[in-house]
Amino acid sequence: MKCPFCNSDNTRVLESRAIDEGASIRRRRECADCTKRFTTYERIEQSPIIVIKANGDKEVFARDKLLKSIVRACSKTQLSTLVIDGIVDDVESEIYKVYHREISSNELGEVVMRRLKAADALAYIRYASIFKNFTSLVEFIDEIKELEDSLLGLNYSPNLKEELIDEFIPPKKIKKKK
Ligand SMILES: [Zn+2]
Repeated sequence: MKCPFCNSDNTRVLESRAIDEGASIRRRRECADCTKRFTTYERIEQSPIIVIKANGDKEVFARDKLLKSIVRACSKTQLSTLVIDGIVDDVESEIYKVYHREISSNELGEVVMRRLKAADALAYIRYASIFKNFTSLVEFIDEIKELEDSLLGLNYSPNLKEELIDEFIPPKKIKKKK
């Protein structure tokens, strides 16, 4: 396996772990030349899963894209890269197992939200605020209220609610009561 950073062939496996109940193996590798670390996956080749968007457009499911959206939701949370990787693994294995050939973007979002809700309330709220596209402040606050206890348990800023509102709902979208 070539190093993705310096292209050297001189890499070694640090750790191998079976995931997806043994259907895949994840290996942590280190390059002996530049000492950078990277992860590889070995898995049975599966037919691609097609994601069907709300407007009917189809696209091939891409792990990278999923990872990107989850990383964005997890910023400023206490979730480590390793934990985030694990969430992506779980989502991926669930959709391959349950959905076989195709999944709607809605169903995919629900799978991600369920995993994030279990992992970190803040990451969940972030993801949901983008995914569910809350159009009213009331709707958004209701969702936060529901999670308030777990948010407090995580020791986040006391102004979290306000910060989230500023960060994730563009002012023009908020319907203010007069
Ligand atoms: Zn290297």
